[in-house]
Amino acid sequence: MTTDTMVSDKDTKNSSAKTMTGSCLCGSVKFKATGVDGNHGVCHCGTCRKWSGGPTMGVHVESLDFESEDNVTAYISSDWAERGFCKNCGTHLFYRLKEGNMTVVWAGAFDDNEGFELEREIYLDNKPAGYNFAGEHPRMTEHEFLKSLGMVE
Ligand SMILES: [Zn+2]
Ligand SMILES: [Zn+2]
Repeated sequence: MTTDTMVSDKDTKNSSAKTMTGSCLCGSVKFKATGVDGNHGVCHCGTCRKWSGGPTMGVHVESLDFESEDNVTAYISSDWAERGFCKNCGTHLFYRLKEGNMTVVWAGAFDDNEGFELEREIYLDNKPAGYNFAGEHPRMTEHEFLKSLGMVE
């Protein structure tokens, strides 16, 4: 397994999980997410950077419901995951594992970003040298992250 593996453990599930709304840039996609965990993880992997134009900031949610799915589509970015976006404006909406029940919504798609804490960075060794995120939080290399999921030795 190589890059495209977002945060998938649920050890941060906490009591502040709540329901939040969001939308795409053009407004044709509106969603409601429940069980929003209040933290975001930053991923520096090459797939995220190519797809988003920079590192991704993902927020775990328990469920994601769209008011209308007419403009929602997804790119199959690996054998195990897809990345959803708005057909009209291209706003990145979610990352979802095909099997299991793991959905990440990109922080910027929520209407309110103020409550999110930066929980950790992953794929740090894939990060270009030209930028850094400030603050004290765990920073995991690709190997450390995959090992934490039991995917590599
Ligand atoms: Zn849109
Ligand atoms: Zn990534």
